[in-house]
Amino acid sequence: MNDVHRNPRPYEIPARRRYDAIIIGSGSGGLSAAIGLGRFGRQVLLIERKHMGGDCTNVGCIPSKSLLHSSHNLGPEPDAPDLVLKHVRTRRDQLREHELEEFGGAEGVTFVYGSGRLVSANEAEILSHDGSSWSAVGDDIILSTGSSARRIPIDGLPENRYLTNEEVFELTETPQHLAIVGGGPVGLEMAVAFRRLGSDVTVIEAAQDVVPTALPEASAMLNKALTQQGIVIHTSHFATAYEASTESLILRSSVDDSQQPLELNAVDKVLVAVGRIPNTADLGLAEIGVATNEAGAVVTNSRGQTSVKGVWALGDMTTSGGTTHFASIWGRRIIQSIVYPRLPIGGEPLRPTVVFTAPELAAIGTQPPQKPQDVVRITVDGSEIDRSYTDEIGLSTMIVDVRPPTGEILGATVISPRAGEIISTFSLAMKTGISFHRWYGTVIPYPSYGEMITVAVEKYLRAVSDDVGGHTWRWSTGLAARLADRLFRR
Ligand SMILES: Cc1cc2nc3c(=O)[nH]c(=O)nc-3n(C[C@H](O)[C@H](O)[C@H](O)COP(=O)(O)OP(=O)(O)OC[C@H]3O[C@@H](n4cnc5c(N)ncnc54)[C@H](O)[C@@H]3O)c2cc1C
Repeated sequence: MNDVHRNPRPYEIPARRRYDAIIIGSGSGGLSAAIGLGRFGRQVLLIERKHMGGDCTNVGCIPSKSLLHSSHNLGPEPDAPDLVLKHVRTRRDQLREHELEEFGGAEGVTFVYGSGRLVSANEAEILSHDGSSWSAVGDDIILSTGSSARRIPIDGLPENRYLTNEEVFELTETPQHLAIVGGGPVGLEMAVAFRRLGSDVTVIEAAQDVVPTALPEASAMLNKALTQQGIVIHTSHFATAYEASTESLILRSSVDDSQQPLELNAVDKVLVAVGRIPNTADLGLAEIGVATNEAGAVVTNSRGQTSVKGVWALGDMTTSGGTTHFASIWGRRIIQSIVYPRLPIGGEPLRPTVVFTAPELAAIGTQPPQKPQDVVRITVDGSEIDRSYTDEIGLSTMIVDVRPPTGEILGATVISPRAGEIISTFSLAMKTGISFHRWYGTVIPYPSYGEMITVAVEKYLRAVSDDVGGHTWRWSTGLAARLADRLFRR
């Protein structure tokens, strides 16, 4: 920690009013940009209206993964589930304090509490907690204000029974029956954790299956694995109303209006996890011409630059948001673009995603439900590797899309314990252009889940060697189509 630069009074107006960069929002994105620019000798003003660390530290990644971990190691005491909820808050608060200590004093960074908005492309106004306002000037302004939970109306549901990710980690008692509206990553992770704590858990998803962005076969497998844990899942349904006298949640079909509504009984809490809304209102974007899409997300180019020169944006408030690692990579891109504007930035980064359920579902790259003609889709059943046998893992798979004859990896989906670690290997291979051919012969420790890769490579080579001529022909016609597509789009 460097005390020389630390702002000792983050609630007061700092003496300095001119900075190299002003950053609005100190979540994953804002922090990574601030620390990086500070290390390059820039003077940075970092503005935060609530808690340093943003959603990830306070109401997102950290408490959710902490809850998943602690609920797994539940003690035998009757109040163990409630103690777990308390423990998660303690761990979260400790990390928040640590980040405040470490990053509040980071080199070159002046951290202040307040709500920031743009006045022009190089001036921000900061509304302090005491109601006063002041302004600061910066050569560059970086917007990183994150997102908020999308709220949907559920008729009759009292406010104290309506939870989002903001309230769920504040629970002091484990719900008897937790209904979770939304079968995406947040909803499913919480389903696993609260089921482990002993709650009855019902998930309601409007789409045909959970994690609708995943390959349908992967969604179906995860659905099955969660159902085996006692989680009840209603797909193709909306939650529409709540009857407080009977604690009933009413569900309606999302596909067929004529279907009788379903009634879930004794539901004491409802967690709504149906997506995010970018925090872009009240930032003064339209006034200075910063372009947003129809959902209100800020549109940026591959460097993180907005439609206004000198104004940058990253993380959940942009069209490239959704995870902490996306926010961090765009933070690095913005730092590079400010510090070394002439250095090439490279293509769009890969976007691995992980649902940290048990088993985990991880994916990377492009895998349309219907595989293109010139692509070989390899599916490995997890039971083909010995680690699944020793660990008694019932459901696991790896699905890889590879383009022959080059062996280029286009996308991968993995369901297994630690799938998030396995997908990192794909991330490296895809970024550095390691083909599936080069992967052949790579030694993977036995018995690890990574052995699914060895099986996938061997299956791919067998599939290709059966029809070398056909694959080469499809590759060359596919290549011609892709080149034409590129030229046409330009
Ligand atoms: C329950 C849950 C679990 C998650 N788990 C994971 C996970 O395991 N892995 C993963 O990669 N991602 C996860 N995410 C997503 C991750 O939390 C976000 O993608 C990430 O936090 C985005 O970072 P950000 O910097 O864009 O925004 P945030 O972290 O939300 O930070 C934005 C900050 O800006 C502040 N702010 C807003 N407006 C202003 C203003 N006008 N002035 C000053 N400050 C302002 C906010 O108070 C906030 O602190 C999870 C999300 C949730 C909800």
